[in-house]
Amino acid sequence: MTRPRILVLGTGGTIAGAAGSATGGGYRAGGLALSAMLDAAAGLGLEAELVGEPIAQIGSQDMGWDQWSALHAACLAACGDPAISGIIITHGTDTAEETALLLDLTLPAGKPVVLVGAMRPADAVGSDGLRNLANGVAVASDPQGGGRGVMVVMGDAVFAAVDVRKAATAHIDAFRGFPRGPIARVTPSQITWFGPPHRADAPASYAWPQSLPRVAILTAGAGMDAKPVEALLGIGCKGIVLAGMGQGNAPGCVLDALAAAAKAGIAVVRSSRVDEGMVERNVEVDDDARGFVAARALGPAKARILLQVLLANGISDPAGVQAAFDNL
Ligand code: GLU
Repeated sequence: MTRPRILVLGTGGTIAGAAGSATGGGYRAGGLALSAMLDAAAGLGLEAELVGEPIAQIGSQDMGWDQWSALHAACLAACGDPAISGIIITHGTDTAEETALLLDLTLPAGKPVVLVGAMRPADAVGSDGLRNLANGVAVASDPQGGGRGVMVVMGDAVFAAVDVRKAATAHIDAFRGFPRGPIARVTPSQITWFGPPHRADAPASYAWPQSLPRVAILTAGAGMDAKPVEALLGIGCKGIVLAGMGQGNAPGCVLDALAAAAKAGIAVVRSSRVDEGMVERNVEVDDDARGFVAARALGPAKARILLQVLLANGISDPAGVQAAFDNL
């Protein structure tokens, strides 16, 4: 039986990080080449052929348009290559949720695309990178792995891009899914899916854009005034995501300034600075009157990515933007 061929796109992060000490606290994300990681994986006896393609060697805090464009192009080519069964992206954990959602929105859902990272560098005692990579290989090679959109595999769990978020700064068990928890549990030798593929052979939801418009996240805080809203409009933001208090709330003067921006054609999405929970329309804030959109289950970082993709695809009216958030 031929082994599945998995394309591994390397971008850096802690999974490619080296501390130079098994017990030290500091390290450099992205210091190790992808080939070193694949050499280590070769010793595991995995039932797959791993083909490496370096994209970047960075901490994911520096992830942006250039790396995303390269990742999208490589994934798209691999989706059309019958010799490739699945795709793994090694990625820093800080922005894994953003890259995962961006690719989820803009790639066809046929083949598994799996982001893996690590919370501990490769040479730290108890490093999780190689296990996460082995788990990622299990997911990317699984015949049931396609048709689920982009996934993030961390801590023996598989999360859908739409649900996943980094919820702890340093714990090994740092990722959570909301509103759904993990869609599968995985070890290098076993996967338990909790449901069937729901997007089998679905095309990309949105076209890959020529560029991403400037959209800023504005975090609300008690006692703030509306000057940050004016500042964001002054630098040419086409959209603003409010990381609001509670259910996407903010002081009245801030909501007034955001409503004026919405009336002037700026897309305004209310999300929450709270870790978990829905932001629904017209609960305490009158979204209908103010021209706002409610982010529903998306946190600020992913709401920003979705809004950028929508604006780049010509969807900017509150009803159209709201429909996209509702139907995610
Ligand atoms: N800040 C780095 C990054 O996101 C390291 C964090 C990590 O990978 O866990 O790439």
